[in-house]
Amino acid sequence: MSKTLFDKIISREIAADIVHEDEHVLGFRDINPQAPVHVLFIPKRPIATLNDLTPDDAELTGRLVLAAAAFAKAQGFAEDGYRTVFNCNRDGGQSVHHIHLHLLAGRRLAWPPG
Ligand code: 5GP
Repeated sequence: MSKTLFDKIISREIAADIVHEDEHVLGFRDINPQAPVHVLFIPKRPIATLNDLTPDDAELTGRLVLAAAAFAKAQGFAEDGYRTVFNCNRDGGQSVHHIHLHLLAGRRLAWPPG
């Protein structure tokens, strides 16, 4: 698989505002935020889309969700709430083929999304 933008953020070839890093997960602010707080949580191991996940990835995907929830809680959004989203392929609006969990917080979000 060729290198995506997010691989280059992981390797620091492209700068990003990193808010979380551990052995498996990187969290950084979206360059085009759709809410006052918009962070992307990605696995350091590249997986193109949700379609490419296997049962072996269960722990890793759980880590993404836990990292997002811990960040939201630490930033004070637990009570008012927030949204997490994985987009998948064209109809889901996925533009970068390295799975990423969007965390959106800091405003009342509409439902259903567009
Ligand atoms: P997707 O549309 O694939 O679900 O989300 C990709 C996200 O990556 C978009 O929200 C977009 O704004 C964000 N993005 C695209 N290029 C960059 C970049 O160079 N740096 C950062 N931090 N985010 C980016």
